[in-house]
Amino acid sequence: MAHLDVAAYFYKSGTICARCLRDRIIPAWPIRRPGGATTENILDEYAKTLGFDRDRPAFSSYKFPHRMTYSELMDSDRCYVCRRKF
Ligand SMILES: [Zn+2]
Repeated sequence: MAHLDVAAYFYKSGTICARCLRDRIIPAWPIRRPGGATTENILDEYAKTLGFDRDRPAFSSYKFPHRMTYSELMDSDRCYVCRRKF
């Protein structure tokens, strides 16, 4: 995996994996989830709706998850939902 790939997300005050974000958090959002869409596809669509520029995350992680790359993670970081390491 490339160093700049999305490794996880920072949402509210914790680090969360893509699977938990998609399966546990996004279903509570007021959006449609097209079949087969990846977590990133869904986030891109929703960010557009909210007017957030995901490449310049000036928005709060309490409002929308921030992307994290592998270089931004520490070895001890785990998903706060499933406790899996990244
Ligand atoms: Zn997880």
